[in-house]
Amino acid sequence: MLVNKKCPNCGTEQFGLDLKETQGSFICSKCKRHFIVIDDNIKEVKKENNSKK
Ligand SMILES: [Zn+2]
Repeated sequence: MLVNKKCPNCGTEQFGLDLKETQGSFICSKCKRHFIVIDDNIKEVKKENNSKK
């Protein structure tokens, strides 16, 4: 299911996120920060995390 989320950093709405596919994470299209959605909360993911593909 695709959802829309608002970036908590810059407020840009991110359309059509597939959070199941990415296990809740998304990268803002504007500020390029990495966030993870847990229930209704959005937390920033720090860069030292391993990026797995
Ligand atoms: Zn942003």
